[in-house]
Amino acid sequence: MISVKKFTFNPFMENTYVLFDETKECVIIDPGCFSVEEEEELSNFIDETQLNPVMLWHTHSHLDHVFGSSFVANKYNIDLWIYKDDLQTLNAFNMVCKMYGIPVKNSPPNKCKFFNLSEGISFGKSKIDIRFVPGHAPGHVVFISENSNFVINGDCLFDGSIGRTDLPGGNHQQLLESIRKELFSLDDKMVVYCGHGPETTIGKEKYSNPFLVKQ
Ligand SMILES: [Zn+2]
Repeated sequence: MISVKKFTFNPFMENTYVLFDETKECVIIDPGCFSVEEEEELSNFIDETQLNPVMLWHTHSHLDHVFGSSFVANKYNIDLWIYKDDLQTLNAFNMVCKMYGIPVKNSPPNKCKFFNLSEGISFGKSKIDIRFVPGHAPGHVVFISENSNFVINGDCLFDGSIGRTDLPGGNHQQLLESIRKELFSLDDKMVVYCGHGPETTIGKEKYSNPFLVKQ
């Protein structure tokens, strides 16, 4: 059984997740920690829960999801994993920070490993399925645990809303297709952990999300 710990970090109010199971191995997803206080909040939790970080994963590499990636990769000496189509977004980090007028404290790691979608990925005793869901960002993936009944869905689906598609590589129609095909095929009761805002469920969004309910 996987436990999910959620943090909300940085001025974009981005949700960072730590997944861990009974082995105490953990993975850190989309570490948005920006200030030293936020870095400490994350590392204190890992210390206090006596977790052993084994991997760092990005759903996608928009800046608000990766401010803390080099901190995490360096502190725990772990590899960053992304989907191969996300590399262009990862590499644009410094440029996008400049556009937003955000001082670049730490660029994300420039070395990374690529997820294999058909194999999924494992940590501890847990198996995670990965699905490719382009639309909000070109290399966006989601992480699914059938056993623990959740999906870490980044910025695809939100409680009553969907991800924005006006950023480079965004495509509204493609996002709707990704959600219908890859997310709405999951169990209605599955909990959806979002990149911003509260959790929701597949069923709630399938039947009431104004962007997806057919009028
Ligand atoms: Zn995003």
